Amino acid sequence: MNKIRDLGRPAIFTLKPYVPGKPIEEVEREFGITGVIKLASNENPLGPSPAVTEALRAAIPHVFNYPDSNCFYLKKELASLHNLSEDQFIIGNGTDEILKMIGEAFLNPEDEVIHAWPSFSEYIFVSKLMGAKPIAVPLDRDFKHDLEKIAQNIKKNTKIIFLCNPNNPTGTILTKEEVRKFLEIIPPEILVVVDEAYYEYVNDPSYTSGVELINNKRVIVLRTFSKIYGLAGLRIGYGIANREIISMLNRVREPFNVNLLSQEAAVAALRDEAHLRQSKEIILEGKAYLYQAFERLNLEYIPSEANFIFVDLKMDSKVVFKALLREGVIVRTGDIFDHPTYIRVTIGTPDQNKRFITSLEKILRELAS
Ligand SMILES: *Cc1c(COP(=O)(O)O)cnc(C)c1O
Repeated sequence: MNKIRDLGRPAIFTLKPYVPGKPIEEVEREFGITGVIKLASNENPLGPSPAVTEALRAAIPHVFNYPDSNCFYLKKELASLHNLSEDQFIIGNGTDEILKMIGEAFLNPEDEVIHAWPSFSEYIFVSKLMGAKPIAVPLDRDFKHDLEKIAQNIKKNTKIIFLCNPNNPTGTILTKEEVRKFLEIIPPEILVVVDEAYYEYVNDPSYTSGVELINNKRVIVLRTFSKIYGLAGLRIGYGIANREIISMLNRVREPFNVNLLSQEAAVAALRDEAHLRQSKEIILEGKAYLYQAFERLNLEYIPSEANFIFVDLKMDSKVVFKALLREGVIVRTGDIFDHPTYIRVTIGTPDQNKRFITSLEKILRELAS
């Protein structure tokens, strides 16, 4: 018997450490190359707004102070943006932390959680962490959430349903009508967490935010500053829900969970609408270019409403992934999503997209010969 292992909570032995996208520096060290580009973690290729850089610089002398536990100014900004009140927001050290708070506040070991698959793996992590049981419902043939099957999987002990909208890694969306109807048919005591990490990129007019639904149901909407706002390294995201849910989440929140620099950066990021527009435009342009290139290369892809594309290479994508690394291009392999022939590529700047396609084309040609 291994004594130290016996000290761990049983739940932790159901967990595996998260495997993140490979960092640029690691690839440069490993292959002795420079100028590596990362199209693996859905970050904003333009970086943060210049206003963020300014705000951060101005905030540096104040870092000896504890941050505002209540994120007063950020909540004020968000309240005015969403036309809601400050007490309908919770701010987290990344959306990841809010997912964990949701688990800590609501999940008992006997509870079940439903999530689509493939989707964001953190839903499984928080469920298992709390000892609850995650139930994976496969996406439908169009790689969309199968809401009918999700509803069929509801049991007496179902506590939370996670909807990733747009879905990571497929970029598919649920329409306003689909979400509205789903909320009508499911039991009202189930919490529905709508993860909208890629909300800002969506173009499809049939899409709508879950924010419109937070008052009539037990809906929690999650947004992040990591993606279009370009603040992934600062770790900041937020949740929107009714006051009662927010007050429960605040019970499990660490007092100073969001650092001072991140709060300043987030406020500045929200105010720079021009940067937001520009960030969206460059993704739309890049998406059109990549779609065309995939079609030319005879590769099937899933049309995406987000800043990444899930594309089928029709061969073990780990082989292509490794070859791309040698070319200095980092993407994500689909095996982590149980789709081993796919890669997920983040849309980059025009130069980055071109470099990715040139490398991919060369690799596919070499592998075919
Ligand atoms: C990136 C991402 C998040 C955001 O995570 P942070 O902790 O805010 O960086 C949340 N959900 C999904 C689906 C994501 O892809």
